[in-house]
Amino acid sequence: MEGKFVEVRQRWGRRTNALGVLKSMRAVAEYLLHSRPTTLYPFEKNELPENFRGVLVYDIEKCIGCGACVLACPNKCLYRTPGPKTERNKPGIYISFEPTHCMFCGLCVEACPPVSGALSHSKVVSIVSEKKRIVWQPWEWAAFTQLAREKGWEYDAIDYDRVEHLVKERAEQIKKALEEKASAGAKK
Ligand code: SF4
Ligand code: SF4
Repeated sequence: MEGKFVEVRQRWGRRTNALGVLKSMRAVAEYLLHSRPTTLYPFEKNELPENFRGVLVYDIEKCIGCGACVLACPNKCLYRTPGPKTERNKPGIYISFEPTHCMFCGLCVEACPPVSGALSHSKVVSIVSEKKRIVWQPWEWAAFTQLAREKGWEYDAIDYDRVEHLVKERAEQIKKALEEKASAGAKK
């Protein structure tokens, strides 16, 4: 009786091994005959969906300084920040941003009045840096936004330590342009 049991078990073992081999061969054949289910990153990149929520970008020209985004942010990573006056000589209120504390929830984008449309998501997946904390002044955030668009930064994580000098340089230009507009407005 025991001998018969061992024989059945061995036969069943051989059968399941054969099934496993057939399944593996089928998977290899499928892989060879059909397109690959993976991409050869970083040489190939997937299309990101339209509603992908990447690193937030900020159009400083469109911001009306209402602060709705600041109130909406559950992580407290947006701050109202004074800056150059507006063209109509009103106090300039802009928004600073801490990208290292953002969780990409998008609540600030929803809160931003459509008439302004100053906030949106880029397709930059994340910001990486040796620094534990990054705080962008409004003009730095606007500079990152412009550079991301111009340089087609998307899909990847951006090594911020390598691009920081570009952001700072552009931020200076943006702030200067705002100050010039403010002083032109004051003269009117
Ligand atoms: S996406 Fe969310 S966490 Fe990030 S700044 Fe906006 S509200 Fe705050
Ligand atoms: S909600 Fe939009 S318009 Fe209002 S302060 Fe924030 S970014 Fe600017």
